Amino acid sequence: MYKKIAYLVTLAIVIALIIPVGVFAGPNQPQVFNLTIIHTNDFHDYEPYALARKASIIKQIRAEKKNILLIDGGDLSIRGPYHKVFYGELEMAVLNALKYDVWELGNNEFKAHPDQAVTDEKLYNLINQANFPTLCANVRTQAGEYLPGVQPYIVKQVADMKIGILGVTSNKVKKYPQASNKIVEDAFTTVKTLIPEVRKASDIQIVLSHAGLAGDLQIDKDLADSGISFIIGADDHFVIPQPIYRSGGIPITQAGGEDNIFLGRLDLTYENKDGKWVLKSHKGMLYPINDKVPMDTEIKRIVDRFLSKAKSKAA
Ligand SMILES: [Zn+2]
Repeated sequence: MYKKIAYLVTLAIVIALIIPVGVFAGPNQPQVFNLTIIHTNDFHDYEPYALARKASIIKQIRAEKKNILLIDGGDLSIRGPYHKVFYGELEMAVLNALKYDVWELGNNEFKAHPDQAVTDEKLYNLINQANFPTLCANVRTQAGEYLPGVQPYIVKQVADMKIGILGVTSNKVKKYPQASNKIVEDAFTTVKTLIPEVRKASDIQIVLSHAGLAGDLQIDKDLADSGISFIIGADDHFVIPQPIYRSGGIPITQAGGEDNIFLGRLDLTYENKDGKWVLKSHKGMLYPINDKVPMDTEIKRIVDRFLSKAKSKAA
């Protein structure tokens, strides 16, 4: 009798231990992954001290969030007052100090100077200076290779997740005499061709595009089922506070550029559905950058150093 009771008590304890596990780890509990992306594009040498203000917000977000990517969509230089002094080196020094994860070459990086040899020298100088990967999938050398130091995409590990980021630049590059020594493929076609490979290598796929909003809308229209979960745009300096999104499509954003100075932020939630990670919800925002945003002292010092060099060069 005693034995029977002891057996029943043990059985009850075992069941009590098992059932809650079954309830909480059941198939109705989705696996969720939160990712924050901080994005910039199209600096164009405009107002270097704005970089120090952006840095304050970047460091603030980093203190509050985990699972962060910091990325730039290109056009570091050209048109601003320091273009012909630094050719984007000031901006690249700041991106390095802030430990960016990746950047995409903008069209302007391919026409930094009227002379082809000088443009190439400045372009490769920036690529070599970057302490983080440079993307550009749709420009190749005449031998058909990706440009030296440049990758078509990266797979970045964030927590347990593999984030595939594919980069393309504007089709405009094809028309530049300085880029006549390169093969420029259509941005959309390149994304369409490469995205299955990126998908095989990663859990989440993102396009970092300097193809302009029209190019991004075409990706959304024709490649919505390709696995791409977000398009982070650049080139035409659109101010897009909330991502452009149609139900079932791919959200698109862009953070202004040049004299429209903003820092972009995306908070994305992915959910695992039948072994695939899908974007469940997204929230965008643009931080306006003005003198109300304090300057980060580390980045301000870098900008100071460059600008005092510019002054001594001009003197
Ligand atoms: Zn631009």
